[in-house]
Amino acid sequence: MTALLEVSGLVSRYGQVAALQGLSFEVAEGEIVALLGSNGAGKTTALRTVSGLHRAHAGKVVFDGQDVSRLKAHKVVTLGMGHVPEGRRVFPALTVAENLLLGGYQRRRDRRAIQARREEIYEMFPRLGERRDQLAGLMSGGEQQMLAIGRALMHRPRLLALDEPTMGLAPQTAQRVLQVVRDIRDQGTTILIVEQNAHQTLRLADRAYVMETGRIVLDGPAAELAQDPRVKAAYLGGSV
Ligand code: ATP
Repeated sequence: MTALLEVSGLVSRYGQVAALQGLSFEVAEGEIVALLGSNGAGKTTALRTVSGLHRAHAGKVVFDGQDVSRLKAHKVVTLGMGHVPEGRRVFPALTVAENLLLGGYQRRRDRRAIQARREEIYEMFPRLGERRDQLAGLMSGGEQQMLAIGRALMHRPRLLALDEPTMGLAPQTAQRVLQVVRDIRDQGTTILIVEQNAHQTLRLADRAYVMETGRIVLDGPAAELAQDPRVKAAYLGGSV
């Protein structure tokens, strides 16, 4: 297996708080890989460090054979890594169409390509197409999550990192969002997903890693982990 993303020995701190303590995992092209773990395990920090939004104190992030550990986030984006942050950060006072345009800012000189890509996103998410002129802040939570995902897809990432995309959504809406994630993978984008919702995520993912206090404590095929009683323990905040 040649990894598209290879993370090794990441150490990350906020002042005295050690958020990542030697985190290692990898994602092969075409996979859906989940990082699971309870509150504060370091999942968000892991994604932010991988995508260049947070600087690691030690360790390495290799994307598509290139060491990106020292690169700024906007550079990592141009190399093909998309990131949908926690909490559906859409611009509420801008329309759906404007939000998508901002996702294409890396190719801002190529207006026609951006508009063509936006049409593709509308085909992928018909609801966004119907509501293209609506202010993002007036849409439902599920629609805003679709928009956040659509925006990250504007620059055609090879790997899409999603931070708790189902957080705060009703079960049916969460299910729809996860189905969209599966469709995106089926169309050729590799997925790294961070979730607290273990059961649904393990049905979606090919492989998963369980994090605790900034490192991996368990990993394997998602179907096997779904049967592992230690996964439940991790989710209840117990020790694996
Ligand atoms: P959650 O599910 O709550 O988002 P998480 O698994 O994503 O949790 P992180 O948010 O990465 O975990 O946090 C990992 C550790 O780093 C926690 O101990 C947390 O309190 C700490 N931490 C996170 N962000 C900051 C910050 N800005 N300043 C100080 N400590 C932080």
